[in-house]
Amino acid sequence: MGFATPTMRLARAHYELVVAHCLDGLPDEACGLFAGPLAQNDDGGRGDGLSTEPTGEITAVYLTTNADASARTYTVDSRELIKAMRDAEKAGGALVGVFHSHTHTDAYPSSTDVRQATYPEWIYALVSLKHPEPVLRAYRIRDGEIAEVAVEITG
Ligand SMILES: [Zn+2]
Repeated sequence: MGFATPTMRLARAHYELVVAHCLDGLPDEACGLFAGPLAQNDDGGRGDGLSTEPTGEITAVYLTTNADASARTYTVDSRELIKAMRDAEKAGGALVGVFHSHTHTDAYPSSTDVRQATYPEWIYALVSLKHPEPVLRAYRIRDGEIAEVAVEITG
């Protein structure tokens, strides 16, 4: 059992922002978005030269509001989502993933998370606050299938 592609590469400063945002959100789940470049050479076989596959490199993190204000579910505030999308595109990249916290369960997608995973090209990161030391893990979720991707904390 290997990891799915791509490896998510997150700067330590971004990792710390993500974890702090999750802790700040307690007792509710917290959420946010990741931006980064898209792969240049792989068009996914469509032949149009365009790719929607992230390289895995994270160049910006957006800390967003959980519109559900819930300890069990999350929805990224829609205005903040659009704002982050525009900002990421202005920087020449795209939104490539989302993170949210699990306050009392493992860093693994719930059945609700799988059902709501609408972007097959995105990286879905989970931060578990179940134990004193937060745990971040990341996944691709495609057609209801969960595949873990490796996370590399850089810098
Ligand atoms: Zn969840």
